[in-house]
Amino acid sequence: MSDTKKEMIKYAKIFYKKGMVDSAGGNLSARDKDKIFITKRDSSINRLWDYDESCFVEAKLSGEAVIKKMQPLMSRESHLHFRIFNEFSHVNSIFHIHPRYLLGFASLKIDMPIVTALARDRLFPSHIKCIRDEQENTISESIAIVRYFKYLYNNSPDCGLACLLSGHGIVVAGKNLKDTFMKVEVLENNARTFYYMQLIEQSNYYKEFRREDSKDIYGDWDHIQRTGIKDVKLYFEREDVDFSID
Ligand SMILES: [Zn+2]
Repeated sequence: MSDTKKEMIKYAKIFYKKGMVDSAGGNLSARDKDKIFITKRDSSINRLWDYDESCFVEAKLSGEAVIKKMQPLMSRESHLHFRIFNEFSHVNSIFHIHPRYLLGFASLKIDMPIVTALARDRLFPSHIKCIRDEQENTISESIAIVRYFKYLYNNSPDCGLACLLSGHGIVVAGKNLKDTFMKVEVLENNARTFYYMQLIEQSNYYKEFRREDSKDIYGDWDHIQRTGIKDVKLYFEREDVDFSID
């Protein structure tokens, strides 16, 4: 089995174990030289995301299955995957899944604000857009998504390519499987953090903490910051060393 398929199997298992997918659907794809591997229709329900070699369809970049009889077995969202691969030569992996926290935003058909520093660091824009003006799983929806990704890419070639599909999940495209997996996880954590922020903001603790006249619970901060410590200059603070990576 190719290393690409082995890696796809690994991430599929992690997604299911972490509750980021359910047996109802979702699909993964990856580019391997001039071939695309994409998960087979219904393999999530039939295999509960515990894939083996038989769960993949191998296809050309045009979307044509290498073995003709496999053509109807490709995932429902195949046209979206192939359209993205054709448009972006740097994209080598695409995940469409239904993570539980991101589903809240997708089900309400609203954009998700980026609230965590990690998601910002991974170069997502201020919001993850929900594609809501097109009929679900249609050619016109996939064209709208590719246009949106192109818009993001034209603004910044390093921008994370992701969007919510109204009612049912997220699509993330990355430069390799590891990169795509990490971005999906970062976005799901961002969604979860947003929910917790709403809960905390409603709490009495938060209201009390935010009151201007409330005292610091840890003491006098200005006093703490005058506490004496050793004056150490660490190696990576030196100005005479070149820290750039070749
Ligand atoms: Zn879906």
